[in-house]
Amino acid sequence: MNPFLDLGIRHEVVNAITEMGFEKPSPIQEKAIPVLLTGNDDFVGLAQTGTGKTAAFGLPLLELIDFTQKHPQALILCPTRELCLQIAKDLEKFAKYIDDVHVVAVYGGANISDQLRQIRRGVQIVVATPGRMLDIIGRKAIDFSNVKYVVLDEADEMLNMGFQEDINNILSETPDTKKTWLFSATMPKEVRRIAQNYMTNPQELTVGAKNTGNVNIEHHYYVIKARDKYAAFKRIVDYSTDIFGIVFCRTKIETQEIAEALVRDGYNADSLHGDLSQQQRDKVMKRYRDRSLQLLIATDVAARGIDVNDVTHVINFSLPDEVENYTHRSGRTARAGKTGISLSLVNVKEIGKIRRIEKIIGKQFEKKQIPQATEVIEKQLLAMMNKIHNVEINEEKITPYLPSIMESMQDLSKEDIIKRFASLEFNRFLDYYQNAPDLNADARERDGDRGERGERGERRERSVSKGFTRLFINLGSVDEFSRGDMLGLICDAANISGKSVGKIDMKGVFTFFEVQDADVKKVFDGFQGTEYNGRAVRVEVSGEETRGGGRRGGDSGGRRRSGGGDRDRKGGSFRGDRRSSGGFGGGERSGRRQSSSSRSRY
Ligand code: AMP
Repeated sequence: MNPFLDLGIRHEVVNAITEMGFEKPSPIQEKAIPVLLTGNDDFVGLAQTGTGKTAAFGLPLLELIDFTQKHPQALILCPTRELCLQIAKDLEKFAKYIDDVHVVAVYGGANISDQLRQIRRGVQIVVATPGRMLDIIGRKAIDFSNVKYVVLDEADEMLNMGFQEDINNILSETPDTKKTWLFSATMPKEVRRIAQNYMTNPQELTVGAKNTGNVNIEHHYYVIKARDKYAAFKRIVDYSTDIFGIVFCRTKIETQEIAEALVRDGYNADSLHGDLSQQQRDKVMKRYRDRSLQLLIATDVAARGIDVNDVTHVINFSLPDEVENYTHRSGRTARAGKTGISLSLVNVKEIGKIRRIEKIIGKQFEKKQIPQATEVIEKQLLAMMNKIHNVEINEEKITPYLPSIMESMQDLSKEDIIKRFASLEFNRFLDYYQNAPDLNADARERDGDRGERGERGERRERSVSKGFTRLFINLGSVDEFSRGDMLGLICDAANISGKSVGKIDMKGVFTFFEVQDADVKKVFDGFQGTEYNGRAVRVEVSGEETRGGGRRGGDSGGRRRSGGGDRDRKGGSFRGDRRSSGGFGGGERSGRRQSSSSRSRY
């Protein structure tokens, strides 16, 4: 007998989920379904995203709702539009063989009249994001007096995003007799408080240890110098030949800059952040889902609710400000029973943060070494050879050309041909990786690299010299600037002498530099409305909070925050003509483009 039937799910639904490939219940389903099916209890389920939560609450709902009635009986609140659509779609799929099931997805950024029309036609299940739900309640367009079940999905995310008050207001519209089912990946005290305030003796279930990451995720970290970060990141990507990843940054500016740099280096990448319109966001997500993008560069907020299966790597280009967010990030991989890697690029000072995360997820990180150039070359060559070995041959199309191809190769042995094929790529890689250094921090230290100092040096460097102001500029070592280049650029743009410029602290995608207080305005004026290689140059005073490349108006905080950091992109054109090439290189040699391969970065 089908194990879902055993759990008490009806045949029609079992048939539908079997078609979806559900053979046996996931652990959360196995535990939660029998409890929820009674319909008698409030419920708290601690489970990561991707564990099958939707069916864990969705299947019982389909058993408990009376579909002969056409009023809302279940309300599911979730943090994002994507998740909202996904849940509604999943429920419709589960209910494919049940008659008269009406589910509506209610979310912001879409036409409200369509949603209102669907509600008027009669629905039993409302899946909603809190903001739009309140809007509809405010219009008195929905009647929740017969709601029997409220599901709070990804409750921790909803609270993180500042929906607490909205949730309170929505819940007050529903009858006291309803049952509340709460799902959350983590259990911070705010979520605990919801459970206490809105639930009566909830049944509590945990899949895996509390607040623990998915067991199928391996957690790795690499210790590198801050200025090598981008190069190290690229090396890891190059080494992971089948990578399909999400790269997390702390700010929207960082996402844009990393994505731009990657695109210039020939990778298929794009950024996802809070300032995109819904349409832009959908476009990026579609490309990612279709795998036209190999790397999605995202902020924490923007990546919420991303439900793409098969993500192989989550890359923490910057660790999250809130360590709790690490769980949400890493949960984007290893979905639906698959395995995945969550890796973090850290400098020596951030190792403590890794230890704190280990405590939260109850799992140890593995320290990894940035691959050496030779290892990357070998891996890439083998991957290419494998591709050649396994390529599908279109006999019909290729046959007419074979005689001439064969003729051109007739003086070569099989071994020669293989060598030549391999050399085609090998020469390219070799050229690219020539003189590529060992990027592991300890090796850089051994090499006597003083570019980035150790812990104490860093701190010293950060204290601003007397009479100077520390400024931020969004150009850095990825633009292949040396400190000398940067000094020249600043002096030229601001028309000041080199003596006016103090310490220059180059980072990957940006630089901190000191300028005499009296000349700060000149620097702002000089860079106003300028561009470097088509990119708007931005200069800002580096506030306390910006240190370490952190939060400059990014969207890592509350949900309604936006804007900030980005200045107007005014016309004007400072073309950065000090250097002729325009490529972002990020420490590795760069600039070449492969013409034939889809992975065109070499
Ligand atoms: P969820 O956590 O609900 O977003 O589910 C994550 C993914 O796992 C989705 O693609 C589901 O379709 C899939 N899934 C959920 N339950 C099962 C199951 N019992 N067997 C196979 N796949 C499942």
